[in-house]
Amino acid sequence: MRTKIIYSEKCLEYGKSHIESPERVEIAAQVLKEKGYEFLEPEPVSEKVLLSVHEANYIEKLKKGLIEDHETPAYKNIYELARLSAGGAVLAAKVKGFSLMRPPGHHAGKSGLALSVQTRGFCYLNSIAIAVKFLRKQTLILDIDGHHGNGTEEIFFGDKKVTYLSLHRFPDYPGTGFESRENCFNIPLPADCGEKVYLKAFDDVFRKIDVSKIEVIAVSTGLDTHQGDLASLALTGKTYRKIGEQLAKFKKQTFFVLEGGYVGRDVGKDIDELLKGFERA
Ligand SMILES: [Zn+2]
Repeated sequence: MRTKIIYSEKCLEYGKSHIESPERVEIAAQVLKEKGYEFLEPEPVSEKVLLSVHEANYIEKLKKGLIEDHETPAYKNIYELARLSAGGAVLAAKVKGFSLMRPPGHHAGKSGLALSVQTRGFCYLNSIAIAVKFLRKQTLILDIDGHHGNGTEEIFFGDKKVTYLSLHRFPDYPGTGFESRENCFNIPLPADCGEKVYLKAFDDVFRKIDVSKIEVIAVSTGLDTHQGDLASLALTGKTYRKIGEQLAKFKKQTFFVLEGGYVGRDVGKDIDELLKGFERA
């Protein structure tokens, strides 16, 4: 069965001059529509669901626009828009789909900031964490964004129900994720390391994880590892296809949530390659 894309045009309503731009997702959506994917509209998650991950005090501040750092502005309606993006992740979890929504989420910790990092990296609510808590199953979060998901690690550190695995560029923002700790496996990789090094690291780390106990794989899908993008590891569409093929071999309930990836046409094509690999294998 073909993976459905979760998307709402409402997610284009903010951040026009920011690198985390509406176009990156709008163009990716166009590419995927042209390729014939079926689209579903998400609903915003309730405040109660948010509180499974975030502190009440932070939610109040976010509602009032009292959060801001130089890269993560307090846009008008950002609370509503972030709730809708989290709703995309929850719907993706329910239908084993791909949430093509923004803002991204993996840098957002329980109180917004995470692991002593002073900026939120374009993230407001941790959408994938909210979806994982919603499912309440034994889950592996595979974070393939080019940046370490410090928010997701902070939220699930020591959690017996979740294994967090991140492959990311280091040194780079946010500066965390240079070592593995308890249930969090971190694989730092040098800039532009290329597909061969990346896929070897991918295979090596999966040998350390007991996948037999995992019920769900949640993929924090950042495509900013694409050659020339913000956290380039010099990967190409072909690499994402191979990652999709590897994921399919585990035969688990799997869903995908967009994180980074800043060149819309590449984002759309890379998602198509990843899903083609996943569906064909
Ligand atoms: Zn990133």
